[in-house]
Amino acid sequence: MSAIALTNATLFDGVKDEAIPGMNVLVVDGRIEAVTDQSITGKAVTEYDVGGRTLMPGLIDAHAHVFAINLVAEHDRNIPLTEMTARAVPRIRKMLDRGFTSVRDVAGGDVGIRNAIAQGFIPGPRLFVGGPALSQIGGHGDHRSTTDESLDIDLNSSAFYFTCRIVEGVDNLRSVVRNELRKGADHIKVLASGGVGSPNDAIEIPQYSEEELRTVVREAAVRGKYVCAHAYESAAIAHSIRAGVRTIEHANLINRETAAMVAAADAFVVPTLVAYEVTAQHGERLGLSPYVMQKLNMVNDAGIVMLGLCEDAGVKLGFGTDLMGDMEFAQLQELTIRARVQRPVDVLRSATSVNAQIVQRPVLGVIAPGATADMLVVDGDPLKDISVLTAPEKNLRMIMKDGQIYKTDLAAKAA
Ligand code: ZN
Ligand code: ZN
Repeated sequence: MSAIALTNATLFDGVKDEAIPGMNVLVVDGRIEAVTDQSITGKAVTEYDVGGRTLMPGLIDAHAHVFAINLVAEHDRNIPLTEMTARAVPRIRKMLDRGFTSVRDVAGGDVGIRNAIAQGFIPGPRLFVGGPALSQIGGHGDHRSTTDESLDIDLNSSAFYFTCRIVEGVDNLRSVVRNELRKGADHIKVLASGGVGSPNDAIEIPQYSEEELRTVVREAAVRGKYVCAHAYESAAIAHSIRAGVRTIEHANLINRETAAMVAAADAFVVPTLVAYEVTAQHGERLGLSPYVMQKLNMVNDAGIVMLGLCEDAGVKLGFGTDLMGDMEFAQLQELTIRARVQRPVDVLRSATSVNAQIVQRPVLGVIAPGATADMLVVDGDPLKDISVLTAPEKNLRMIMKDGQIYKTDLAAKAA
């Protein structure tokens, strides 16, 4: 049995509005066994007095791409999966270094990389993966040039092997979804509107028919899984929601009426604002085309308005980042961007307990008896100043995942 006590903590449990001082947390074999203001000294093998610092759940990023090693997706095209994996290893480790103990990969991440982390071969956050995102012809995942007539639609090949797969029609979609779920996908991602990074599709156009989306949702739902949809404009969001999609990714161009519809369906919106902000700053220099830059600026300006609309409508807001290539350094800046509109506690709830609901794992993202012991010890009060989390090398004094101390500079006391 391994037992660790974290004592004298100011506890943000991932749910409540306030942090509570003077709390002790006992971790036994990877699970939180007790959360109490009573003494737990003597019950643990190892004790860390956290000295009144903030103890909070590990962060969860609900929209990332571990294999997006290049900013320009076309550059990933001819990279074998083994090379891709090797190049992704430092990206993945850095996510954990920033305090992300779980990450949902919504295009590209496969069960192999998820399992390798779970088995301890690669240090990194617990992953939730869906394989390649599914795209219609001419959709956000169709990166062929306009003169390229080649197309190979089958279960194993398409324009983008890792990230996206072109699949059309109800019957083909049913087969592909069944196959991804057979392999062990945690969710299925569909591209339900145009996007920023794709060379030829307008951002506002809905993609896939409602019938096609409904087929994907049904196949996932019978296995207890769900569908996330990339969508920007209200028309695409509404058609995804009508088809039963559970999480809307990005949603920058949503209107008030559609936000109310998302709330009524008990679905989630996962904003990814930092991706637009930092890519707008650096994209031109790094080779994004003028058309992509134009689309980027349009959604960047709308994103901050979307937050207010969704909050007013009572939409459950998750937390995502969507950073490609070298832009990944900015992962924690999503916290401060969100806090321009929202209270820090609401942003932190999104990045902990709400994202845990999104990944269908309510034992994550909370500090409570029975929860998985993913926790951070933070210097400073992120409920007052969320920016303390953006300097993890200085302010993250402990990172615990699954009850294992991944990193700490606090001294253990003999218990
Ligand atoms: Zn997307
Ligand atoms: Zn994405």
